[in-house]
Amino acid sequence: MTSQSYWSPLVRELVPYIPGEQPKVANLIKLNTNENPYPPSPLALSAMQAAVNDDLRLYPDPDATALKQAIANYYGVEHNQVFVGNGSDEVLAHAFMSFFKQNQPILFPDISYSFYKVYAGLYEVDYKTIALNAQFQINVEDYQQPNGGIIFPNPNAPTGCLLPLLEIEKLLQANPNTVVIVDEAYIDFGGQSAISLVKQYPQLLVTQTLSKSRSLAGLRVGLAIGQAHLIEALERVKNSFNSYPMDKVAIAGGVAAFEDKAYFQQTCQAIIDDRTWLTEYLESLMGFEVLPSAANFIFARHLRHDAEKIALALREQAIIVRHFKQPRIEQFLRITIGKRQDNEALVTALQSIC
Ligand SMILES: *Cc1c(COP(=O)(O)O)cnc(C)c1O
Repeated sequence: MTSQSYWSPLVRELVPYIPGEQPKVANLIKLNTNENPYPPSPLALSAMQAAVNDDLRLYPDPDATALKQAIANYYGVEHNQVFVGNGSDEVLAHAFMSFFKQNQPILFPDISYSFYKVYAGLYEVDYKTIALNAQFQINVEDYQQPNGGIIFPNPNAPTGCLLPLLEIEKLLQANPNTVVIVDEAYIDFGGQSAISLVKQYPQLLVTQTLSKSRSLAGLRVGLAIGQAHLIEALERVKNSFNSYPMDKVAIAGGVAAFEDKAYFQQTCQAIIDDRTWLTEYLESLMGFEVLPSAANFIFARHLRHDAEKIALALREQAIIVRHFKQPRIEQFLRITIGKRQDNEALVTALQSIC
């Protein structure tokens, strides 16, 4: 017997996703996993504290109606056009199972969120990657080919580049017969959401997360918005998997996070301002090329220094950024926008390295 002989054939073939590291070291400047440097909304924190009470002996609402309604109110859609899950990763997994079991390969960019390949493996969905152009942008014409579905992040990860809404609309018009998923994990940092297109396009599903722009990565809340017939498919999969993915604390915190618009706008704006500052500094004073970013991170390469070496040297100074050993992007670093003092410490460290 080998150690894997009890495993199913599918599990033997799986190549799981590797999340960015969460080192258990204090005083590290952590710019590697696109977490928000600001704390969650104080209103969300007190709502969650209030939810920790004797009622936790009871199961939560399996529909998470209060959370769906808060999201529906925020975006001006109906309750039955909202799906919620345990992080948008779970929402995406259910979406792969709901929509992508087709007889054609699904399409996504060659440089993109690496979880898509993992879900394709888990659900045995064929895929074909479409190369970003030389500017690392999505060209929607390249997606006009037979497919079992299309998925891409907007802004894209790890490039940070935004695809304008008009281009998304072109793609939807050319592709009416299979589901198009726009993964908007970073949309609140300067992009326009495709949720405004949902009423016109029955094949459009938009996913978002509270992990990045709402500082709640630890809570695990994600969502999808689409026409009711798409949401119904997601509910069928969810109710065949786990009736209660949203716990009572997550529902309470999620509702309050959507209600506290002022805090949300203020923290997003601070990150956008610091992204502008860091981009200009790296480009004009330090010899970096920075792709135009609409996210809470930048994707940058130095014109003379090797990216992996820079990443290692930063680590020696207790700053971690993300480097991908992947063709086309091995000379780039993905750097999460931190608080102003973190970004300044990064610049100081880079000055000593480069
Ligand atoms: C972070 C991220 C997610 C997942 O977010 P969770 O809600 O924390 O699971 C999904 N898609 C992209 C592109 C991301 O960067």
